Amino acid sequence: MARYRGAACRQCRREKLKLFLKGDRCYSDKCSFERRSNPPGQHGQARMRKVSDYAIQLREKQKVKRMYGMLEGQFRKFFQIAEQSRGVTGENLLRLLERRLDNTIFRLGFACSRNMARQIVRHNHILVNGKKVNIPSFLVSVNDEISLKEKSRKVETIQDSLEAVARRGVPSWLALEQDNFKGKVTSLPDRQEITMPIQEQLIVELYSK
Ligand code: SF4
Repeated sequence: MARYRGAACRQCRREKLKLFLKGDRCYSDKCSFERRSNPPGQHGQARMRKVSDYAIQLREKQKVKRMYGMLEGQFRKFFQIAEQSRGVTGENLLRLLERRLDNTIFRLGFACSRNMARQIVRHNHILVNGKKVNIPSFLVSVNDEISLKEKSRKVETIQDSLEAVARRGVPSWLALEQDNFKGKVTSLPDRQEITMPIQEQLIVELYSK
C-alpha cells in the first residue's frame, strides 16, 4: 500500500504538534520540533490570515491521520465503521484506531514508533493468539494475546524498545508480560487514555458535511 514518504518531522511542524513519529528521537533534544516549530514552507512563519471552520476541521483530521500513519481511504473506512457502530462516533473512531495491531504493538512497547510497529507486523514478527498476523490494520479484540515470534525476540531494536517502554507506560487496556514478550488485551481502549490533544468531534463534523 502507498505510504507518505516525506520527512516525518515536517508533519509535526505542519500540525504544530509533536506527533511522535520517529521513536526515541522524539523524546530527545534532537527533536527538530523543539528547535523549529513553525509550519513548513516559504511562508510558514508569516501566516496570520483568518482560519475557516473547514480548515480547522481538516487540520484535525490530518493530524490524527498522520499520528496513526494512515492514508485518506483507509481513514475514511475506519470513520464509516465508527459511524455505523453504537455510541459516539468520534469516540468509536479513536477506539478503532487504538485497536489497530500496529498501534497495539507500539502501545505494548515492542516498537518505539507506529512506523516501526507497522514494519514489525509486515515482516511477520507478530502472533495473535498463536497465529501469524501481518496486517497492520488488523483490529485486536478483548482477550486477544499478542506475542513476538520466538526468533524475533532477539531483534535488537525490539529489545531496545521494550527497555524504553517504562518511559511511555502501557495503557490500562493492555497487560504486558515483558519477560515473555507478550501482551494481552484486557478491555477496549478508553477515550480518557488517549492523552494526545485530539478534538474528534471536528473530524465528525468534517466528514458529515
Ligand atoms: Fe515530530 Fe520531533 Fe518526532 Fe520529528 S523528532 S517526528 S518533529 S516529535
